[in-house]
Amino acid sequence: MHLLQVQNLRTTFRIDAGQVQAVRGISFYVKKGESLGIVGESGSGKSVSMLSIMKLLPQNAELQADHVQFNGQDLNQIDQKEMRKMLGSEIGMIFQDPMSSLNPLLTIGDQIVEPIRIHQKISKEAARKKAIDILRIVEIPSPEKRLKQYPHEFSGGMRQRVMIAIAISCNPKLLIADEPTTALDVTIQAQILDLMHDLKNKMQTSIVMITHDLGVIANMCNRVLVMYGGTIVEEGTIREIFYQPKHPYTWGLIKSIPTVSTGKREKLIPIPGSPPDLIAPPKGCPFTARCEYAMKICEKIPPQQITLSETHRAACWLMHPKASGVAKEVTV
Ligand code: SF4
Repeated sequence: MHLLQVQNLRTTFRIDAGQVQAVRGISFYVKKGESLGIVGESGSGKSVSMLSIMKLLPQNAELQADHVQFNGQDLNQIDQKEMRKMLGSEIGMIFQDPMSSLNPLLTIGDQIVEPIRIHQKISKEAARKKAIDILRIVEIPSPEKRLKQYPHEFSGGMRQRVMIAIAISCNPKLLIADEPTTALDVTIQAQILDLMHDLKNKMQTSIVMITHDLGVIANMCNRVLVMYGGTIVEEGTIREIFYQPKHPYTWGLIKSIPTVSTGKREKLIPIPGSPPDLIAPPKGCPFTARCEYAMKICEKIPPQQITLSETHRAACWLMHPKASGVAKEVTV
């Protein structure tokens, strides 16, 4: 049984201009102990899909799913209060901007010790000792002294380490990291990724890494979901996605990675064109307007997922045996 299993998740937002169909029927799973990367441009639905599962959506959102199961529990059957209990104990979260997640009026100690005390039902002193141990694990020097300080006394990188400490403090089964390094400078990004990599190996926690950076995915993850226009356009292992990609959007993402010889970080350069309007999404394939291989059928009928291996799926008409286009692959 998978740790997380999601079937046909749909999320819409009501706004004055209409209904934004942010996530349009996605299905995926996370295995115990694995790291799953979700990659795509902003607005592709990658963050919204995880926030939907955690019931952390604003009032104007509407969520439907045929089935969402986490660690044997049907999440469709639990309310927000029960979900909140689960967050911080069984599911930990790390967001892009640690400053907006930490309370500036409370010491770091208050923000780590209290959740440990509540979730693990242990004394304040025992929780404090545990907090010190966790700060050591995330390599924050002088943890006893640091517990008494406020978030503004920490650098950006140190604040992100604190967020990681809070997220792992209750030994979660699943850690969700949403662009955890985007707000940090390059050297600090590398340090935080190294830390997460070590923690992943030590703790055997499953990780969902949401990012627009394929370099992060390559270093951290076992499998990848490529999202576009609120849908999963391709899914596979790292090897399948990087060496045998089948979807033109994935080809574009891979081609846009600067080569190592440029000395730059592997950051996505946007593919020409704009993402689809999700208030009135295209009838056919969401990538049609930007796809150099688009055929007539692409405009009219959405491509179904084609299974290529036990772990590899892609949704593109080029793979259909009767398609007139010739499937090409990018050599990477
Ligand atoms: Fe391009 Fe058509 Fe494939 Fe969509 S279905 S990615 S438009 S070839």
